[in-house]
Amino acid sequence: MASTAIVWFRRDLRSCDHPALHSACERFDRVIPLFILDERLLDGRFASGPRTAFMLESLRVLDARLADLGGRLFVRRGRPEEVLPQLAGETGAEAVFWTSDVSPFALARDRAVTEALGEAGVEAVPCPGNYCADVSVPRTKKGKPLTVFTPFWKVQRELERRPVLPAPAAVAVPEDLDPGEIPEGPALADELPQPWCIPGETEARRALDEWIDGPVDAYGNRHDDLTGGTSGLSAWIRWGCISPREVEQRAMDRGGKGAHAFVRQLAWRDFYAHVLLMFPDNIELEYQPRFRDLEWDTDADLLESWQQGVTGYPLVDAGMRQLLATGWMHNRARMVVGSFLTKDLHLDWREGELWFERMLLDAEPAQNNGNWQWIASTGVDPAPYFRRIFNPMLQQERFDPGGEYIRHWVPELAGVPEKRLTEPWKMTPEEQEEAGCVIGTDYPAPVVDHAVERKVTMERYRAVSPPKD
Ligand SMILES: Cc1cc2nc3c(=O)[nH]c(=O)nc-3n(C[C@H](O)[C@H](O)[C@H](O)COP(=O)(O)OP(=O)(O)OC[C@H]3O[C@@H](n4cnc5c(N)ncnc54)[C@H](O)[C@@H]3O)c2cc1C
Repeated sequence: MASTAIVWFRRDLRSCDHPALHSACERFDRVIPLFILDERLLDGRFASGPRTAFMLESLRVLDARLADLGGRLFVRRGRPEEVLPQLAGETGAEAVFWTSDVSPFALARDRAVTEALGEAGVEAVPCPGNYCADVSVPRTKKGKPLTVFTPFWKVQRELERRPVLPAPAAVAVPEDLDPGEIPEGPALADELPQPWCIPGETEARRALDEWIDGPVDAYGNRHDDLTGGTSGLSAWIRWGCISPREVEQRAMDRGGKGAHAFVRQLAWRDFYAHVLLMFPDNIELEYQPRFRDLEWDTDADLLESWQQGVTGYPLVDAGMRQLLATGWMHNRARMVVGSFLTKDLHLDWREGELWFERMLLDAEPAQNNGNWQWIASTGVDPAPYFRRIFNPMLQQERFDPGGEYIRHWVPELAGVPEKRLTEPWKMTPEEQEEAGCVIGTDYPAPVVDHAVERKVTMERYRAVSPPKD
């Protein structure tokens, strides 16, 4: 009788460099590529219309890709710890392969699945694939988890790498099994006016080829330019439409300064995965206990002005509107809007994390939480909090000197002369008329005064932080 295994896809929606799919196809005669629609994720705390649409479209592409290999995707609904043993029983599957993950939710789910499979006498086979290296391994010389990026990177880059795998030559699936259905849902284009990218493995591979073929060379110098300079690959990496390990290897093969800087940046992703794996409480609490008593304000109007990109600070508004329109935001803008939320508006970083989870196509608990705690100065990789109070005007001058990013995303400011673009509220009434931008009518006056709020932040952080800072 033909031997059978299940490959349980989660956020690794690809056929290339997929260790779980690859091993299952090597060891078993037949495989069942399976996706389980889990209501806890679809309707949970971090549910997101755009990301669900991205996922459903990526599933369709995966189904087509598997069909090219002679197989298809099977879909079920329910709790994985119930669905998997049941399907294994129905099909005689002897093993379930999947790509391991690091979030507390994923770990608890995978433990429950392993236990249920064990009881059913089915082998559980967690595999690598979501990160460049094994993020559970790095330790300090004293055997502790790493909490500062540079030492982490020194260890991570030396860790052994698995080879990048091709797609399996063929995927043989059982012929008589009900395939289930990928549900119809709103398309990504219905969720976002200008989606950042096209979901799925095919477009992800095309974009990777294009990036490695040239633009990566300028990454070191250009990654902070708000109008370009980065790979734009994050949503595909987050959903596993391309494997980070392959992205890393392709950049290493390209070589040169730009590719080196890019590989280092990609290691931040492994770093935050390591951090969340080692400190799962971070998902709810500040990593540094002293900041758990920090005072936050609650102000629905200010929060909304931030979410909708109408704070009166051009760079903050441009970033937040890019997010609303495309489901993506440049990293530099993410840092500026993050600093603005926590240190100008004094709103809890968890509000920002939640909004990003709702809106970002690349939102991923480890990365989102790690970066929000970084910008709120409450997390690992510490720097004194006053170094991470970003001045939105200076940031704009430095990283969007010609105002291209601002004018694109905040069209009300298109006619404002360059010298007034960082602080449009300083235009005289005549200048406002001439620019076609009356402050308070066409574009909001600043909702807060950065210089004043900076001092408030200093006082609040100082109040809970020992003097050595
Ligand atoms: C407040 C805040 C929240 C963020 N939330 C997320 C998130 O939920 N998911 C996410 O993938 N990134 C997050 N980032 C990190 C970063 O902004 C994005 O990864 C990056 O903007 C994606 O664009 P890119 O693919 O063009 O990046 P590139 O510069 O081309 O980088 C290549 C890849 O490296 C990884 N990467 C780069 N920078 C970081 C970083 N700082 N932390 C972790 N991984 C990184 C990403 O996978 C990215 O695709 C956040 C940053 C901030 C400041």
